[in-house]
Amino acid sequence: MLTDLRSQLRGTLTIPADAHYDNARAVWNGMIDKRPAAIVHAQGVADVIATVRFARQQKLTLAVRGGGHNVAGHGTCDGGLVLDLSPMRSVHVDPIRKTARVEGGATWKQFDRETQAFGLATPGGLVSSTGVGGLTLGGGFGYLSRLYGMVSDNLVSVDVVTANGALVVTSEKDNAELFWGLRGGGGNFGVATSFKFMLHDVGPVYGGLILFPFEMARAVLQRYREATAAAPDALTLYAGLLPSPTGAKVVGLVVGYMGPEDAGRAAIQPIRDLGTPLLDTVTTISYCQLQQQMDAAYPKGMRNYWKSSYLSGLPDAALDLFINSVKSAPTPLCQMIIEHYGGAMGRLPKDATAFDHRDAQYNVMILGLSTDDNHDAPNAEWACKVWDQTRPFSTGGAYVNYLGEGEDVRSAYSTATKYDRLVALKRKYDPENLFRLNQNVRP
Ligand SMILES: Cc1cc2nc3c(=O)[nH]c(=O)nc-3n(C[C@H](O)[C@H](O)[C@H](O)COP(=O)(O)OP(=O)(O)OC[C@H]3O[C@@H](n4cnc5c(N)ncnc54)[C@H](O)[C@@H]3O)c2cc1C
Repeated sequence: MLTDLRSQLRGTLTIPADAHYDNARAVWNGMIDKRPAAIVHAQGVADVIATVRFARQQKLTLAVRGGGHNVAGHGTCDGGLVLDLSPMRSVHVDPIRKTARVEGGATWKQFDRETQAFGLATPGGLVSSTGVGGLTLGGGFGYLSRLYGMVSDNLVSVDVVTANGALVVTSEKDNAELFWGLRGGGGNFGVATSFKFMLHDVGPVYGGLILFPFEMARAVLQRYREATAAAPDALTLYAGLLPSPTGAKVVGLVVGYMGPEDAGRAAIQPIRDLGTPLLDTVTTISYCQLQQQMDAAYPKGMRNYWKSSYLSGLPDAALDLFINSVKSAPTPLCQMIIEHYGGAMGRLPKDATAFDHRDAQYNVMILGLSTDDNHDAPNAEWACKVWDQTRPFSTGGAYVNYLGEGEDVRSAYSTATKYDRLVALKRKYDPENLFRLNQNVRP
């Protein structure tokens, strides 16, 4: 049966007997250990069409993999077929029209490298090994989002192979309803073979990390709250309660100022006024350096259990909860990150795209991280308990791309009307739910 599929491909097929099978089946989250029957390494749209048709005809479970970063492990499966898009990573930049077309398996590192050759960029994720595909389809945000909106707000068009094996071109003009759903509805409607983005003039930027001793956590987080409330759109600030490379817990700030050094210095001076940091790397760097500054902290293969929640604010009681939770975490690498949104992300009407929760100012991530599988159970228990305790400070919503296995996809959409609109699209383009290994909208 698989020989039939192999003969239709320009790319290659990996099966369990192959020496590189273990490498090919591994995704970013080391907790995910699934054994697909075969992995297609697609070399183009024709391979995607052939694989989708084959999976449907043979009634095989189909997992679509872009960058493989999804924490719930949706980029792989047990016993079924994985469609690995990573060989499809070309990026074509049009510097005159300031647009870029990128294939569905590229990572942000590959995309940024090509666009920055022309001094251009579009908002993309904060860890450069993340896939353009999964991140964009869930909405996506990054250092440029407070200036230019969600990643998916910058889309001009998306080409997608739907469940019947047809390629559908989508944009504001063509198949506009599907284009709406692809901007926040995740991988529910098909395989995005390419994305065309608007680009902006970007770089150099002022960015880096500032770490303070954990004892200063309350004061730093309070100052973070003030600084983010007053932040210009060019400034993105995340805060973290996390282990430093020496193992000691610290309170840290991730800084990205999308403009000249003088203005960046002024924007973060209130943070620096707090006192002498353990580390301050914030300086003028290239946009690509900024985009890669967090890579080493989140390597492939680490065991990850995540919970997250949008927050309605950052009252002192929430800050105390976060500090005490990290202090009493069961294993050394557990951490919490606060993300700040707003700016251009919140300026589009809520129904402009499928992505929701544009009004949320903050998000908290509770990360049970480890390299030791003995830590999986206590980390998961800790993350769930802390998540329960954050409920009083939560909006009740969650970012679709951060949802773990079994979490309610409806929490990513604030109204039944929006969810029903996604269900209608699902019924039209994937009535049999071939694309179900994702934050699934059931047809
Ligand atoms: C370390 C880390 C940092 C992150 N930082 C950010 C961040 O800064 N901003 C942000 O918004 N999110 C961030 N995320 C979350 C990220 O958006 C999701 O994990 C996303 O699912 C990753 O996409 P991927 O293509 O790498 O993953 P995959 O696991 O390959 O795919 C994820 C989902 O998308 C689907 N999919 C992927 N590509 C395609 C495609 N071309 N066509 C159709 N479906 C596709 C898959 O089927 C799957 O359901 C981060 C995640 C990690 C692990």
